[in-house]
Amino acid sequence: MNEFTEVAADLLLVGGGHAHVQVLESLCEHPLPEVTVCVISDHPHALYSGMVPGLVAGDYEVGQLSIDVAALAARARARVILEPAVHVDPARKLVRLRSGRVCRYRVASLDVGSTIRAAGIPGVAEFALPTRPIGRFVERVERELAAATETRRRLRVVVVGLGIAGIELAFTLDARLRALGALAQIQLVGRSEELVGRSEGNARRSPGYLTRLHDLARTRGIEWIDDFELSAVETGAVRSGSRRLEADLVVLATGAAPHAWLRDSPLPTCARGFVRVSETLQVVGVPSLFAVGDCAAMEAAPWVPKAGVYAVRMGPVVTRNLRALLAGTPLERYTPQRDFLAILNLGERRALATKWGVSVSGRLVWRLKDAIDRRFMRRFQSEGLPSVVAAGRSRSSPEES
Ligand SMILES: Cc1cc2nc3c(=O)[nH]c(=O)nc-3n(C[C@H](O)[C@H](O)[C@H](O)COP(=O)(O)OP(=O)(O)OC[C@H]3O[C@@H](n4cnc5c(N)ncnc54)[C@H](O)[C@@H]3O)c2cc1C
Repeated sequence: MNEFTEVAADLLLVGGGHAHVQVLESLCEHPLPEVTVCVISDHPHALYSGMVPGLVAGDYEVGQLSIDVAALAARARARVILEPAVHVDPARKLVRLRSGRVCRYRVASLDVGSTIRAAGIPGVAEFALPTRPIGRFVERVERELAAATETRRRLRVVVVGLGIAGIELAFTLDARLRALGALAQIQLVGRSEELVGRSEGNARRSPGYLTRLHDLARTRGIEWIDDFELSAVETGAVRSGSRRLEADLVVLATGAAPHAWLRDSPLPTCARGFVRVSETLQVVGVPSLFAVGDCAAMEAAPWVPKAGVYAVRMGPVVTRNLRALLAGTPLERYTPQRDFLAILNLGERRALATKWGVSVSGRLVWRLKDAIDRRFMRRFQSEGLPSVVAAGRSRSSPEES
C-alpha cells in the first residue's frame, strides 16, 4: 500500500452527520480496541439542524449548535481526515477524496446529508441563499443579514419553500429582522404540494395545523403564497413564470436533493437519486456499506422525510449494526416512527408543537424545544469528555424537532 495516497480502516465513517456523531459517542464509551476507525468529514464541525432556526432568530450563537467532529473522533481514538469524499466504489470497498487520496475499508457508513433541490433554476447560484448544505447556510446567513440591514431601510425577504424549514425560517427571519430594527416584509412562497401538511405524517393527521400556521403568519404580517413555482431568481426579484416578486434577500428552502458525487458513484439509488437502503440501513445489495440520514432512502419506508429527527433516530441502530457486522453477529431493523413531536420555532422565543393531531403554541413550547435541543447537544459538547464518556448520562434518544 502506498502510505501517502492510501488509508486503510476496518471501519470508515464518511460524514459527521446526526447519526455518525452517535457512532463516535458510542466508540468513546465502548471502544473497539481491535478495530481501526477513520472518519472523513469536509468540515471539522457538524451542525445540529434543530437549532438552526433558533440561530437565525438570534436565540443561539453558532458554537451552541456545533459539534466538534474532529475532537469527538479523536476521543473515540479514530483517525480524522478533513477533506470531502468525492466517490464511493462499493465493489472495491474504497472511498476517494478530493485530493485523489483513497480510503479502503472493511465496513463503511455514509452520513453526508443532502444539498438543495431547485439549485439549477436560473439565478439561484448567483442571487439566492440556499439552506442546504446546512453548514454553508449558517456560514452565510449572518453575513447576508448584516449586509442587507446595513444598506436598506426596508427589506423585502422571500423565503421559497413551504416545508418545515421554509416556514420556520420565515418566522425566525421576521423576528430577527424586527429585533435588529429593520422594517421587513416577509413573503413565504412555494407550491401547495410541498405544504408541510402533505409531507409530514404527523401534520397530515392534524387538519387544524395548517390553519393555525396560516393564522400565525397573518398575525405576524408574513404573506403566505402557495401557488408560486419558482422559475428564476434575478437581481432584486424572484419569478414564477410571468409573476414577479421584488426581493432584497431570497432564501431557498426547497427541500433536499442528493449530492451529485453520490448519485454519480456506482450505488443503487431511488428515483430521486438518494442511496437505497434496507431496513438494517445497509445499502441494497452491498452488506459492507451503510447509508443513513438525508443521503439514504429506505426501500421499505419511502415516505420518510429528509428531517434531522430521522437521522438522529437512525444513529443508535447504525451504531449497533456496525458493531454487529464487525463482530459477525445478527443485525437489527430500523423502524421509522410515523408520528413524532414536531416543534417549529416561530421566533420571539415562541414555538408551535404538534403531535397526535394536537397543536399548541407559545413561550412554554419554545422552552420545551430549547431544553430538548440543549440536552442533545450536551451529549457532544461536554468539555474534555474523556475516552470513556461520563457514566449515568441519559441515553434517551432526543425528539429532534
Ligand atoms: C434551515 C433548516 C432547518 C431545519 N430544521 C429541522 C428541524 O427543526 N428538525 C428536523 O428534523 N430537521 C430539520 N431540518 C432538516 C435537517 O437539517 C436534515 O434532515 C439533517 O441535517 C440531516 O442530517 P444528516 O445526518 O443526514 O446530515 P447533516 O446533518 O447535513 O450532516 C452531514 C455531514 O456530512 C458532512 N459532509 C457533507 N458532504 C461531505 C463529503 N463530501 N465528504 C465528507 N463529509 C461530508 C457535512 O459536513 C456534515 O457534517 C432542517 C433543515 C434546514 C435546511
